[in-house]
Amino acid sequence: MLVTDSGLVKLDIVANAKHILKEADIDFTVYSDVQGNPTAANVLNGIAHYNKNQHDGVIAFGGGSAIDAAKAIALMSGQSLSLWDFEDVGDNWTHADINGIAPIIAIPTTAGTGSEVGRASVISDEKSQTKKIIFHPKMLPETVILDPELTIGLPAHITAWTGVDAMVHAIEAYIAPGFHPMAEGIAIEAIRMIAKYLPRAFNDGSDVEARGQMLVAASMGATAFQKGLGSVHSVAHQLGAIYNKEHGLLNAILLPYALRQNRSVIEEKMVYLSKVLELQEHGTDAIIAYILQLRKELNIPHSLKEIGINEDEAKRIGKMAFKDPSTPSNAMPLNADNLEKLFRAAVIGELNSL
Ligand SMILES: [Zn+2]
Repeated sequence: MLVTDSGLVKLDIVANAKHILKEADIDFTVYSDVQGNPTAANVLNGIAHYNKNQHDGVIAFGGGSAIDAAKAIALMSGQSLSLWDFEDVGDNWTHADINGIAPIIAIPTTAGTGSEVGRASVISDEKSQTKKIIFHPKMLPETVILDPELTIGLPAHITAWTGVDAMVHAIEAYIAPGFHPMAEGIAIEAIRMIAKYLPRAFNDGSDVEARGQMLVAASMGATAFQKGLGSVHSVAHQLGAIYNKEHGLLNAILLPYALRQNRSVIEEKMVYLSKVLELQEHGTDAIIAYILQLRKELNIPHSLKEIGINEDEAKRIGKMAFKDPSTPSNAMPLNADNLEKLFRAAVIGELNSL
């Protein structure tokens, strides 16, 4: 079963993929009832489609939403428990029937989420307006195809948002506490590559070299965040669920505020990162200045207010973000008040309030 999203299914890249499968005499059907910020209903309908057509595997074709939905469908295709029973809490994943998990081939068409190298999916629970992480080690795709030509047609703003998401993965992984030099090394190199190639891919969408480097860097960012994410994702997950805004855009807006809030504990790492990026000044302030400049170049707004988010739900967002699985690995320890403050600063666009 080829899983893609409702927008992509109308485009040539999906038509081409279907053509290739037909030429190869592979029986398949297409499932595209997947929205941005995929929901439990998208997954449940996909499972029904999968079982009705007696499929034996899933091709995840698209951006993070399609890949996350496809991975959750593959996990759930042969389970007797329900989707939320596999939320990434405690040892829930051990209750899965491994023989009931379909094999996955992942083909990303954006360079950002890195979901193709991850063992989890983020699925929205429409009822509680929350995003839940569904986890199983076998949700890691068996084969990944990184083909830069599939990302050539990506509009500039999606290139920017998804590309900064990849950078946020690498930065949050790099500054997460905990001992994981291997993840940190991968994170640093991913940040260097994104800094070099994202502006190129943004300015010239047909720059195949930049597109290819971005795909690899996005996979590296997601590999690195095995070490953990942080408050950018803690807050962005809630905003995605409540306001249905794009994950990458939310992360891109939130990033400098989170760095500012964490600055008392990340200075040494930011000094090193600024040397890697060959900035003239070194330290957290220099990295924040660099990020602000990059965002400007990529036409990313400075505040959440500019994309229609206000402070009405700030208290609730702080509380929900505190419970997000990304919170415990944030660089500095956080409580709900800190996260509320971070959100409010990003709404009004005031870095100095942190
Ligand atoms: Zn992300």
